[in-house]
Amino acid sequence: MKVLVDKLIKNRTLKFDEFKELLATTDPYLHQKANEVRMQVFGNKIFARGLIEFTNYCKNDCFYCGLRTSNGGAARYRLTKEQILESYEAGYELGYRTFVLQGGEDPFFTDDVLVDLVRAIKGGHTDCAVTLSIGERSRESFQRLYDAGVDRYLLRQETTNPKHYASMHPLDMRLQSRLDCLWTLKEIGYQVGCGFMVGSPSQTLDDIVGDLMFIKELDPQMVGVGPFLPHDATPFGGEAAGCVQTTLNIIAILRLMKPNLLLPATTALGTIKDNGRELGIMAGANVVMPNISPTSERKKYLLYNNKIGTTSSAMDSGGDMARRMSAIGCELAIDRGDYNES
Ligand code: SAM
Ligand code: SF4
Repeated sequence: MKVLVDKLIKNRTLKFDEFKELLATTDPYLHQKANEVRMQVFGNKIFARGLIEFTNYCKNDCFYCGLRTSNGGAARYRLTKEQILESYEAGYELGYRTFVLQGGEDPFFTDDVLVDLVRAIKGGHTDCAVTLSIGERSRESFQRLYDAGVDRYLLRQETTNPKHYASMHPLDMRLQSRLDCLWTLKEIGYQVGCGFMVGSPSQTLDDIVGDLMFIKELDPQMVGVGPFLPHDATPFGGEAAGCVQTTLNIIAILRLMKPNLLLPATTALGTIKDNGRELGIMAGANVVMPNISPTSERKKYLLYNNKIGTTSSAMDSGGDMARRMSAIGCELAIDRGDYNES
């Protein structure tokens, strides 16, 4: 396995079957090298993004997600502009300089509403970066939001295999439109994040290699990968969760493919295993996203069963994360944490 890891470090890519072999390895050398590369590029600094989950309304019906429109049991909420700005101000006071606004595809948030919100956020503090993660939109919409000051956009492709995509989404959702959105976001000038769930139902190792190859081609600034976790009230409620080892291997492979990549240790990884995010950092991840949404609404943003952090405050989430990072010799970085080309 050492030969393959060293080859990946040298060439930043591998052949299809070599990727497959590496994805299945349990050799600790892979994670060790990825951790070393993370340390060489970023030192012991881990970027913290304040996550604001601002709406759980969604018009889509993805088969895996607890926010899907068909989940009649979900208690819906939508933060007001004032609540979002309060969370942002509280986060700013706690030291965050990057904010991720995430939500379902909620038709209430038209371009006009979002542009007004983004201007208010960016007008408040000019030293902050704003990331949106609110699904697919038109080119015009992406352009307007970019012009209003949004810096980054997260949109996971979920898979690059059309059959696999179709098995996880209703007919009105098309893989090609998701991929087109990612290319459009890049063309406009956003720092772009793509990614996928690990172990989503019927995903194969070939599918994962397909994702790695797509990531090589798209060349995004960020990649989010976390294990799939079932939610009882979805069609995939009875499916098995994704594998921690495979998730960590993917994180490590991505770090070696692209040493300066922004790579989060996700909430899903922390949910499936108590020290999952720490293991993610030690396999090469360099971003964490403490939840700074109002505590009163957190339990309602349930993508999957047993999601962690649904009862803590913004201060608790940040404090807990800082302690966890310090226990593994890392430190939370209090800055925008922009992607660095070099
Ligand atoms: N609605 C936007 C979208 O779909 O891009 C942003 C919010 S969505 C909840 C963010 C991500 O959550 C999705 O891209 C998906 O990968 C992840 N997610 C949804 N359901 C999940 C599940 N059951 N297990 C793990 N991750 C899940
Ligand atoms: Fe909506 Fe995103 Fe969940 Fe799909 S993954 S149902 S688009 S919130």
